[in-house]
Amino acid sequence: MIETKKSFCRFCHVFCGIEVDVDTERQQVLEVRGDPDNPYSRGYTCIKGRAVPEEINHPDRLRSCKKRIGDGWTDISTDQALSEIAEKLLAIRERHGARSIAVYAAGGAGFSAGGMPLTKTWLNAVGSPSFYTAFTIDCPSYVVAANWLFGTVCTPLGMYAGVFDVDNAEVGMFIGTNPITSHGLGLGGPFPGKRLRDARSHGMKLIVVDPRRTEMARSADLHLQVKPGEDATLLAGLVNVIIERKLYDREYVEQYVSGLEALAAAVKDFDLDYVARRTRVPADQVAQAAVMFATAKTGAARQGSGLTMSRHQNLNTYLVYVLNALCGRIDRKGGAVTNPGVFSRPRPADAPPVQVPLFAEGGARMRGLHGLFTGPGYVEMPTATLSDEILEPGDGQIRALVVHGGNPVAAFPDQEKTVRALKALDLLVVVDPFMSTTAQFAHYVIAPKHFLERPDATTLLDASLPIPFGQYTPAVVRGPEGLLEEWELGWELAKRMGLPLNFPGISMERKPSSDDVIKALSGRGRVSLEEVRQYPSGHIFGELVVGAVLPHAIAHPDKKMAAGHPDALAELCEVRAEPVAEAGGYEAHETFSHRLIAMRMPEFYNSKGQSLATLHAKHAYNPAYMNPGDIERLGVHDGQLVVIDSGRGRIKAPVKASSDVMSGVVAIAHAWGTAPEHEGDVRQTGSPTGRLIPDDLLYDQLTGMPLMSALPVNVRAA
Ligand code: SF4
Repeated sequence: MIETKKSFCRFCHVFCGIEVDVDTERQQVLEVRGDPDNPYSRGYTCIKGRAVPEEINHPDRLRSCKKRIGDGWTDISTDQALSEIAEKLLAIRERHGARSIAVYAAGGAGFSAGGMPLTKTWLNAVGSPSFYTAFTIDCPSYVVAANWLFGTVCTPLGMYAGVFDVDNAEVGMFIGTNPITSHGLGLGGPFPGKRLRDARSHGMKLIVVDPRRTEMARSADLHLQVKPGEDATLLAGLVNVIIERKLYDREYVEQYVSGLEALAAAVKDFDLDYVARRTRVPADQVAQAAVMFATAKTGAARQGSGLTMSRHQNLNTYLVYVLNALCGRIDRKGGAVTNPGVFSRPRPADAPPVQVPLFAEGGARMRGLHGLFTGPGYVEMPTATLSDEILEPGDGQIRALVVHGGNPVAAFPDQEKTVRALKALDLLVVVDPFMSTTAQFAHYVIAPKHFLERPDATTLLDASLPIPFGQYTPAVVRGPEGLLEEWELGWELAKRMGLPLNFPGISMERKPSSDDVIKALSGRGRVSLEEVRQYPSGHIFGELVVGAVLPHAIAHPDKKMAAGHPDALAELCEVRAEPVAEAGGYEAHETFSHRLIAMRMPEFYNSKGQSLATLHAKHAYNPAYMNPGDIERLGVHDGQLVVIDSGRGRIKAPVKASSDVMSGVVAIAHAWGTAPEHEGDVRQTGSPTGRLIPDDLLYDQLTGMPLMSALPVNVRAA
């Protein structure tokens, strides 16, 4: 019998509502399509979501855990694998101390309500601070910028400084983000194209800042095609025009913003001629963008990984926040406002600010770095140091790593070092439904249930979704016997290691059910789980909130947003003192010809989806997009292989001509390819850009995040 069930997609962070056709006798997923009754996604799915039946039924999907025996693998029951892993972990802790046990958690853990929280709680019980996530190689600048502006990362707006009330906006400025492809937080949520069209139809002006003429840039009123890595200069130029011409919101600034004079002094040398020379954006376009943005009555500037993975990433993000603060757009209708969340804890309107320091005491052994507080009591270590933490002998050396739903070989910088590090571990455990490029180096691979085989709730990013939406889903199909749900990893390891989990509502005496875990996670939420469960297609619980922040939630003593934070202004001075690079390098002596930027392809979510034939049929690899003039100068033709060389690493990639890419730029999707020793035809596997990125040079001095985009490279024919 065929039955249609309601659920939500967890292929990526957007959580679109879906209808799933299930053969109930065979317990097989037949088709996935958008759920028209879901008030948040209204029937939308993308190509990835519609490929979920192929993912769950894929012949290569692991239906049993694996244990390495010599150069091969043997099947092992989940129960036996966990017992052996627990025993080895106890021995490693005994011999090398708690810090020697580390976790790297990414989307696979994060897109399950209980996965990340329980795994982190287990690591706390182990007594190890060595918790690493994808966040710190992607966007730690959000935390730094929020701290600089608000004095804490924990305002009701969250670290992303609010969600964009696009329906009431007169202007939107999107910098280094292309939500039409990424569904990124810049616009956020399902139907990005339609949401943008709707906003445009009610008159919203659109400014896009990107080195590529992206899908979004094509429909913009103004597209500033900025040289990669020069965003801080451009943003300082925009701020300078707004201050010099007195276009800022004087009443709002007087009431809620401090540091205007210091900021004005720091940006005054970023005049239009200088900015144009350095960024390659014509001076009149810079001025026009500043005027268009500042003179609108409502709107917001939003950023994405183009800024947060680039040079001066903290300053970039901060200056975007400052643009919004100067123009009176934070905590205001049509601007950056608060999503009160559904599962998030309610906050009294006049509650005092939540003070959270930026960095934890102690921290990394490498490069003088520290763990970053991404929430109260929640510390994440700098992931770009993880390979060195494994390879560097001495007290605190990491000897065991649990990779929970991530793919370091594909995603980390300095790929060759990453592979060396993984091979040096005493124990590598990988939780992944497929034998990923990282799993190939593991001692144990734990096969998890597919997301349609477990209950779940939309707790991740709850208050960062574009609207206060919540949904619970039961499991849609049973799935293979004996596989683990993401949250079970932490509980089962704790049980076997004799450790208590400090997690309210979770007992070690009796194994909780998945629903117990979801209930425990949502217990203090604004809306009860029972109420959310009444809506099989999910529900919108209330509205975006204006006035939840200013001034009481600001943690600076003067209760004002700090537009002139001394650390940011000091970095601005450094930016102004840098040489104006004509080509790809940042220093005068460098001879790089291009800068390489990361981009997303609509069919893939980082390394996810690359093994699915439906998605692969569209794009079998990640081409290096270059301007046709650059390709001609290289003496190559479309489709030919080029060598991209950063000095640290070298990859081959098929080149693809695109007039959307500005001259001097190589645009290529990240998280493709294999480890060097497994490399074959890059037209089959893709090219690993992580191999090009040094993790110990050109990194941010505060967070340790390397230059994951805007990387100087040379390109030549292969
Ligand atoms: S955007 Fe696509 S992949 Fe992401 S949740 Fe929606 S349908 Fe799934």
